[in-house]
Amino acid sequence: MKVLVINCGSSSLKYQLIDMNGEIVLAKGLFERIGSDEAMFTHKRPEGEKYSVVEPIKNHGEALKRLLDILVDAEYGVIKSMDEIDAVGHRVVHGGEKFADSVLITDEVIKGMEECIELAPLHNPPNIEGIKACEAIMPNVPQVGVFDTAFHQTMPKKCFLYGLPYKAYEDLGVRRYGFHGTSHKYVSQRCAELMGKDIKDLKIITCHLGNGSSVTAVDQGKSVDTTMGFTPLSGLVMGTRCGDIDPAIVVFLMEKWNKTAKEIDAMMNKESGVLGISNVSNDFRLLEDAAKEGNEKAQLALDIFHYRVRREIGAMAAVMGGVDAIVFTAGIGENGIGDRAEICKGIEYLGAHIDAERNNVRGEDAEISTADSTVKIFAIPTNEEIMIARDTVRLSK
Ligand code: ADP
Repeated sequence: MKVLVINCGSSSLKYQLIDMNGEIVLAKGLFERIGSDEAMFTHKRPEGEKYSVVEPIKNHGEALKRLLDILVDAEYGVIKSMDEIDAVGHRVVHGGEKFADSVLITDEVIKGMEECIELAPLHNPPNIEGIKACEAIMPNVPQVGVFDTAFHQTMPKKCFLYGLPYKAYEDLGVRRYGFHGTSHKYVSQRCAELMGKDIKDLKIITCHLGNGSSVTAVDQGKSVDTTMGFTPLSGLVMGTRCGDIDPAIVVFLMEKWNKTAKEIDAMMNKESGVLGISNVSNDFRLLEDAAKEGNEKAQLALDIFHYRVRREIGAMAAVMGGVDAIVFTAGIGENGIGDRAEICKGIEYLGAHIDAERNNVRGEDAEISTADSTVKIFAIPTNEEIMIARDTVRLSK
């Protein structure tokens, strides 16, 4: 069975074609700057030359047509005909309270997704556009939606409710939803596999540290708390997002700087985080370089990031009444050797000891704690695509 996994952003479309017989990635690629005359399309196979072109692409439907053309192309293709694609799995950012699991897409499901647009006005519309474009081009191929929020629907009410008037939740759905769910689910399951244990017997803290970052408490395989909230803006200090701040600051800055709500929202999402603190970059490699050269604000931004992750690890251990394993994943978690070392400084009291030598790895599954550490620490590359593909197989059969 071959599954096409699609992830549509506002001006991008990422894809992987996976042969589920052995879970082999046949091809993957990316469209960027969709909607412009200079859209970029890159297509790769595990072996073979990379295809890369800049051309006008109007919308996601057009990108999808280009993608299907290249998949059957004589030179760069990997399948003979479109009929070989048995199902399509779509990443959908927000499923609200409607979707606690992935779903086979029907007209009713699309209606449900459209009702969630209010909760994710930037993310859900391109996701839905991608689904509709696929339906138009491949009307007989089953499609499945996999939600970033679904894994966190197991959080108890005492965790997901904010201290606001109850009607904010009842009337408008204001609550903690949590994001990166597919990633937290994948790495927690992989962690249990690597430990040779049943996930039902484990308390795992998963740290997804990328451009967006979140920490989740996974107790017996279920998300019981996570740092992101109503939107992906809350929790940790991130690349360009501020994370948790005193909500009164929003009103204070609007008044002092004479800014609109929209302007403050953009500032908190795009100009804050380690970029805003350092004024150097949101890329941790560049921050480290700058810090080494003596840039104090770059060092401060790194210190704040590491401190906040460490603080959330402590909080999640408290939530679960203990912890058996801590997992690092995503760009920084998988590659940031120094970042992992810094975060783990001061969590020894939990029984978690990082091993300097074992920690010297990038981009592969690795246990990085000392042999006698009672809490195991892992670096595990995330694989949201394979989770989406597995759910697509499960639901489209
Ligand atoms: P996204 O959330 O967009 O999927 P990623 O998970 O790809 O992001 O993470 C991207 C981030 O990973 C980059 O901003 C960069 O800071 C970080 N990163 C990549 N390589 C390294 C590295 N070797 N050391 C530290 N950080 C890294």
